[in-house]
Amino acid sequence: MNWDDTAPSAAENTADDTAMGAQDRLVGADADGEDSAVEAALRPKDLEEFVGQERVREQLDLVLRAARARGATADHVLLSGAPGLGKTTLSMIIAAEMGAPIRITSGPAIQHAGDLAAILSSLQEGEVLFLDEIHRMSRPAEEMLYMAMEDFRVDVIVGKGPGATAIPLELPPFTLVGATTRAGLLPPPLRDRFGFTGHMEFYAPAELERVIHRSAGLLDVDIETEGAAEIAGRSRGTPRIANRLLRRVRDYAQVKADGVITRETASQALAVYEVDGRGLDRLDRAVLTALLKLFGGGPVGLSTLAVAVGEERETVEEVAEPFLVREGLLARTPRGRIATPAAWAHMGLVPPQQQTGGNGQQGLFGP
Ligand code: ADP
Repeated sequence: MNWDDTAPSAAENTADDTAMGAQDRLVGADADGEDSAVEAALRPKDLEEFVGQERVREQLDLVLRAARARGATADHVLLSGAPGLGKTTLSMIIAAEMGAPIRITSGPAIQHAGDLAAILSSLQEGEVLFLDEIHRMSRPAEEMLYMAMEDFRVDVIVGKGPGATAIPLELPPFTLVGATTRAGLLPPPLRDRFGFTGHMEFYAPAELERVIHRSAGLLDVDIETEGAAEIAGRSRGTPRIANRLLRRVRDYAQVKADGVITRETASQALAVYEVDGRGLDRLDRAVLTALLKLFGGGPVGLSTLAVAVGEERETVEEVAEPFLVREGLLARTPRGRIATPAAWAHMGLVPPQQQTGGNGQQGLFGP
């Protein structure tokens, strides 16, 4: 049977009763209120301190050194990668390394070309302008940005209709640092105007361990090597999540233990917060459990799966699935979602054909 993939009706969708609150997930990669307050203290201040991302770091180091040697403003930089990997941090490092001030804004905050003109015209020479979520800027603002990036000039339109005139306004040279979760979403003319593009990768566990040790030092927390490894393994390749889990484990260690983070306290604390050994939380596990137990591992349509876990389709697709796919636990196929053998193993369940001792049928992934 091919489970349908049509949108659920309102009656079908029970999300309101049972939704698991995708907003404030402990393992969510977007910054929450507490993160914003603490992150400032945990951000590396220069390239030397910035952990991992060797290639981006090395290339950026060359770009910045060369600009400094020429006494020029650095080229515009585009940083792409998932939330929480360090794009804002790197933009601040670029400003610090260039000894320049930084202005921080985001695409959604710039809805009119006038908003952008106001920011650009108030920049100082050499200033770094960090534009987060640059792919979400409005079209007119984007077009104004082309000229500003290339010629350090904007045309300010005064008046309306046939009487409107464009007054050219010279800008001081500045460095635009654009950040986007998906470089593919940027129109090519915008992408082409960046002198350097750095793609940020998810971090390896050993790198996250270094991030955790560094943050523990700054937060004055006692942590053992194995405790850091335990947290790193559950941080989904993302420093922001690593720092957040560290703070929760610290709380647990203070209240329930002697304040020292060992492997055991880390593991007990994260069990309390329902983050499992691989970094899956309750929502991720609910999706996998439904897929495995109710639908025999799939294929099942996204909408059906969403109804089964009492979540919105978008929540399952955008919040839970990307990590499950990345971890090789779930696959999206034209016929629907399917669980991989690794998913059965991770959830401690046995696939149906193995339960019956093998009935000669070929499994989805071969013998
Ligand atoms: P993004 O802008 O990509 O969403 P941020 O730059 O805000 O991510 O980083 C989130 C948090 O993770 C910050 O508090 C920062 O301290 C930490 N962090 C990110 N990258 C690194 C890194 N390479 N080394 C150490 N800490 C990092």
